[in-house]
Amino acid sequence: MAKKIIIANWKMNPESISEAKKLLQLVKKGTSRLKKTMVVIAPPFQYLHLLNPIKNRILLGAQDGFIGGTGAFTGEISFSMLKSMSVSHVILGHSERRAMGETNELISKKILSALKNGITPIVCIGESHRDSQGSYLAFIDEQIRMTLAGLSKKDATKILIAYEPVWAIGKTKDEAMSSEKLHEMSLFIHKILVGMYGREIAKDVPIIYGGSVELGNAGNLIKNGNVVGFLIGHASLKAKEFVDILKDTDNS
Ligand code: PEP
Repeated sequence: MAKKIIIANWKMNPESISEAKKLLQLVKKGTSRLKKTMVVIAPPFQYLHLLNPIKNRILLGAQDGFIGGTGAFTGEISFSMLKSMSVSHVILGHSERRAMGETNELISKKILSALKNGITPIVCIGESHRDSQGSYLAFIDEQIRMTLAGLSKKDATKILIAYEPVWAIGKTKDEAMSSEKLHEMSLFIHKILVGMYGREIAKDVPIIYGGSVELGNAGNLIKNGNVVGFLIGHASLKAKEFVDILKDTDNS
């Protein structure tokens, strides 16, 4: 059975390199006994060099990457540069970057560029709000189709889908999605993938959840939410809570 996967999205944290080192040390130690769970730490770029990945246990992720190759692109970091720093995963299409202007078209190009460089895209999708008529479902359908535009069947199995309802991000476990609703949504996303790539391929596209996963809801979400892991923001910055979530997930 494939391992569960937990991605830590540190966003623009912590403030100093010494705090980053401390957090990494504690998290790394906390992964030593995990059997069924793999962890990806996605710190800000300037902390990437602090972690030496350990295969199948603790890997390195980036929070973005540049669409093209080398050249005169001030302030950007290419996927080949990330690859040379042992980065294996990249978060793409996060709602916070979409809010800064990233479009489905741009994200789809970044996905193809990451794959070309052997980096696994963690493709974030999610509605900003829900309405009683269910039009958020059509929104998700279109967002997936546009974000994955141009992705071949072969490459579709090399990505992860992170379902992150924007309304549930950065809140508390009580405001996060329920495991029942998450189960429904992961089936819906899977159905879209079946329509796009067929049953055989779609079953190999892992779906994870992000949005206020904390110690109090992680166990239930992984047991009943029909997902294979999480993308975790604020709780990944608290070493003890994060390690406890890892243990909980591993034991579920
Ligand atoms: C995120 O921003 O990807 C995220 C899941 O954040 P949080 O866990 O803080 O909701």
